[in-house]
Amino acid sequence: MDLTLYDPFEKMQFSDTNCFLCGTNITPEHRTPVFGEWLQQKYKLPDKELLMLDKSVTTYQELTIPCCDHCHAHYVLPLEAEVAEAASKGLEGLQALDQQRMFQWIGKMYYGMLVTELIKEANPLMTPAYPVSEDPKMLGKFSSFFMVLQSMRVPMVFSDFLPCSIFYAEVAPLEDEQPFEYQDELSTMTFSIKLGSAAVTCVLLDNGIIKRALGRLQHLAQGQQLHPIQLAEFKARIYYAAYLFSIIPEYFIRQVKPGDDHLVLDTLIDDVTQDVFNPWETLAYAHMLEEMLKPWGIREQEILQAPQQPLSFLLDAENRFKPMERYVR
Ligand SMILES: [Zn+2]
Repeated sequence: MDLTLYDPFEKMQFSDTNCFLCGTNITPEHRTPVFGEWLQQKYKLPDKELLMLDKSVTTYQELTIPCCDHCHAHYVLPLEAEVAEAASKGLEGLQALDQQRMFQWIGKMYYGMLVTELIKEANPLMTPAYPVSEDPKMLGKFSSFFMVLQSMRVPMVFSDFLPCSIFYAEVAPLEDEQPFEYQDELSTMTFSIKLGSAAVTCVLLDNGIIKRALGRLQHLAQGQQLHPIQLAEFKARIYYAAYLFSIIPEYFIRQVKPGDDHLVLDTLIDDVTQDVFNPWETLAYAHMLEEMLKPWGIREQEILQAPQQPLSFLLDAENRFKPMERYVR
């Protein structure tokens, strides 16, 4: 068994002729969709438009990444099938899915968006405003992430950690008008997706630290049906924590012995020489919340009416869960 990992970041090998997962040379027609076929069918996405980082517009069916036939058939399709099956059972099904599989599924979509951006940036005719490929710290982070994402292809056991934080929430149907929704933040590596009433938010490279830090938030939402505006706040809190998170976990492969059929990875978080989180700033959090609350047109002044306690739809003054059926302006 070949346990060799592929590192596209070493030579910045981002092109339409390298499989995103194993690097094999391919012709440009070998591709896989960033959002699985089943997802596109189920939520009628193929012709829906989405906005890319460079402000260009594409559609779900056009959003594909280079992928060899072997990786497509052996690693991508089985993963999609597994998630499709879990998703058919709603939030409960998704929560029961193996966490590593959920990480890989969300990670593949996130990485698909990233690869699309990196391929564009490699085009000499393009001059992006904020090239991701020229930020060494970001590239280090992406390269660490891709190492663990390869568990999709190369059997891998994470010694005592999960590379990410996954949060789940259920949305009440009453005022929910979005059967499908997704959001991502390339630099903080955060991705959220809503399938029907089930919402999943993932911070992809924090070794589960944000999940522990926001344990109370997840606990409060557990077993509740959130109003869509509450989900927006739930996500804002997670996205903001990811924004404050300042450490890049490092991963190390244990020495491979002849006959090994998988890799074992250990991890290291340097929380001795640096703080794990940058200090909380209410104004920055309010910006994040304002962004998430855009569909309701709630502005920062309103959020910060009581500066010590930013507006919340989730929690009451005693920090208990606040049930909400309808949003009344
Ligand atoms: Zn491949």
